[in-house]
Amino acid sequence: MKTKSFKLLVSSFALLAFIACDKDDDNTDNTGDNMELHAAFAEFDSENFNIYINDDEVVLETTGLPNHTSPYWSAGHPLDIEPTVTSYAQMAPGDIDQFNGSYTLRVPITPALANSSSATGLGAIGFAVSGSVIYNDQEGPNVPLDNAAPSLDYTGAHTGPQSYHYHLEPKAWSDDDDALIGIISDGFFLYGRKCASTGDYPTDLDVSGGHMATTQHTDDAEYHYHIMNELYLNQYYILFPEDYQGSPNAIQ
Ligand SMILES: [Zn+2]
Ligand SMILES: [Zn+2]
Repeated sequence: MKTKSFKLLVSSFALLAFIACDKDDDNTDNTGDNMELHAAFAEFDSENFNIYINDDEVVLETTGLPNHTSPYWSAGHPLDIEPTVTSYAQMAPGDIDQFNGSYTLRVPITPALANSSSATGLGAIGFAVSGSVIYNDQEGPNVPLDNAAPSLDYTGAHTGPQSYHYHLEPKAWSDDDDALIGIISDGFFLYGRKCASTGDYPTDLDVSGGHMATTQHTDDAEYHYHIMNELYLNQYYILFPEDYQGSPNAIQ
């Protein structure tokens, strides 16, 4: 009996090895070693995201819905809560679940820094791990975020023209730590205010909050962004107020 199951095990491994080799052979136009998803993608909400590799790109499809509580859910939704830092009178119009906020982003498997930086625009500039999208520090054309700050919920987000979105450090899962926040449309990951490489606030950030360092997701130093540890309105931290350092890809 023991021998039999051992044989079965051996043949299973042989079959697996055969399948693995076969797959490599079929992908001779790609570098086999790079075809694995970056470890950081495991932190993206599995209910809201579909993430896979297609050609030389990582494709991220999201429902646009956050996986946490907010007063912006419709009344009766299991994740709906009373507003704490905002109020019903100050909240932006529209509930999370009234929007069709599904989006797709395709980024290179190995993103590269661009020769020159480029400005972010209005609308989604990245995906948070929760499922919802990241905006910059503008509320609308010539409308600074200051005007909309009172409508932001406890996790720095509110509903907008197209979907629920974050402007500030998302307290639902990151508060003065090195948590993964999400991915910016140029393909680089955005982390909290601290860096796992030192356990402290990074001191070598460029103008966009980026630097080369290891993270909790890689032993090789790689470029990534941080929420910059600079106070906004004396109490908040803006997620991504500066330029892309890579080449932005469309979010649609
Ligand atoms: Zn907004
Ligand atoms: Zn870092």
